[in-house]
Amino acid sequence: MARLKKVLIVGGGTAGWLAACYLAKAVSAVDPRSVQVHLVESPDIGLLGVGEATFPSIRGTLSAIGLDERRFLVGATATYKQGIHYRHWVRPPGAPGPDHFFHPFNVPSQRPGGPELLPYWLLGVAPAGMPFADAVSMQTTLVDHSRAPKRARDADYQGPMNHAFHFDAACFARVLAEHGQQALGVVRHEATVERTELDERGAIARVVTKEEGALTADLYVDCTGLRGALIGNAMQSPFRSRADVLFADRAVAMQVPYDTPDAPIASYTISTAQEAGWIWDIGLQKRRGVGYVYSSRHTDDQRAEEVFRRYVGPAGDALKAMHIKFETGYRPEHWRKNCVAVGLAGGFVEPLESTGIALVELATYMLTHLLPIDTDEMEGAARHFNEMMVARYDRIIDFIKMHYCLSQRRDSRFWIDNTDPASIPATLQDKLAKWKRRPPHRLDFVSDLEMFMTSSWQYVLYGMEFKTDLEPMRSAYPQVDAARHEFAMIQQAALRALDDLPDHRALVEQLCEEH
Ligand code: FAD
Repeated sequence: MARLKKVLIVGGGTAGWLAACYLAKAVSAVDPRSVQVHLVESPDIGLLGVGEATFPSIRGTLSAIGLDERRFLVGATATYKQGIHYRHWVRPPGAPGPDHFFHPFNVPSQRPGGPELLPYWLLGVAPAGMPFADAVSMQTTLVDHSRAPKRARDADYQGPMNHAFHFDAACFARVLAEHGQQALGVVRHEATVERTELDERGAIARVVTKEEGALTADLYVDCTGLRGALIGNAMQSPFRSRADVLFADRAVAMQVPYDTPDAPIASYTISTAQEAGWIWDIGLQKRRGVGYVYSSRHTDDQRAEEVFRRYVGPAGDALKAMHIKFETGYRPEHWRKNCVAVGLAGGFVEPLESTGIALVELATYMLTHLLPIDTDEMEGAARHFNEMMVARYDRIIDFIKMHYCLSQRRDSRFWIDNTDPASIPATLQDKLAKWKRRPPHRLDFVSDLEMFMTSSWQYVLYGMEFKTDLEPMRSAYPQVDAARHEFAMIQQAALRALDDLPDHRALVEQLCEEH
């Protein structure tokens, strides 16, 4: 039996530095000398540099690694995110009917002992025509009025409204790098890995760098991004494409300055559907991050850039657009022998619900908890890790596909193809068939395998105008008056919260000044 003493992380993007910080923090809590965490990053190979919207789990992760919130806001030029605003997803621009809906991070309100509101919303008890998210959560009203999810006096990463962050991915990696080295004892090597050498059992014996020669460890974490230099090139762990389900495989992106330095900052991601995909629009402190995610089977790069530039308008005229290629899919064996992939090296699902960094957090969390004490226990840990990751990916893919296949858009081949049953996983088809007769319930989900809670499925399902016919069950829902009262109370609470919560830009500026 050989004790696991050293972990080498290869790659210094978001995945590399988050993994390094989280692992170093966790092992230092046990015994600072037990496992050393090293990270090697190339001075020549850049980061992907996109990945600006996160998931609420990021608050727990940043808190766990002990990074001060004000320092994080300043360093990563971060802002707050309270959900996703979907435009033109249900129907194309100009078609009669609502053209947007909101997916808030707050779960639907439910008073202790009070009724669950969704069935009553489905039965028409809420004010006429009020969208589901607006009826059950005050967060739509708050973001419509540019409110932040918290106050300056709230503790780090806490606040009355559930939230995540938007940030500059490259700046975020730099803050984590500083924190990892200064506070958590991560050892950094600035070097490019040129090749990986295997031992007689097919495990990694060493990585060989241009600048420092050979580096060795007991466990190698591949965070080299889409290259997958260790897990793919050296360990030959195959990639399972899911491009048959999710068609987007390209992006064109830009960093767009605000018109004025005091322009309001949206505390939600805006996602606007287009003829062959959708455009993200993210408000950071000094600029917006904007990008068009599209399917190369349904449009070409030139047309995509034209559509994208039309969205951005004159603010983008002098700016160069960055083109990115990717594929939705994952490696069923994220962890093979003594090599585990975290981040893009392991897989990627198009960024519609910001699952990239959340999957990095999950992988890092699982790696930390499954980290074997002895290298002989690696195989069992790997099996467990791989099963969990595959289950998560497949459920995320179902959730993302649901956005596309419920759309009523038929104005381009992209939207028509998205409703082809052959492109809809059987697991998603089963869920949708069930939910025609009753709404999603938490028992439909295995919580440890899901990234999205029941409420997220509900917000998107009903935002996309899915029909659940509860009429035959009406008598099972007798608390009509209590539900009607609750719907009214939520609107009143929203008005009170407007007085309590500060303007989003004002809060970000205040917290940055206090740093
Ligand atoms: P990278 O950022 O590519 O970093 C790779 C690192 O490996 C770099 O430091 C590089 O120098 C190093 N490296 C590579 N090869 C070597 C070598 N041979 N030797 C030494 N070092 C090496 N995620 C979200 O959560 N939200 C989003 O909104 C979001 N939007 C996205 C939009 C697009 C179009 C794409 C493609 C992805 C998006 N993602 C998003 C995913 C997100 O960008 C990544 O999950 C995240 O940035 C992690 O990237 P990474 O660290 O794995 O890879």
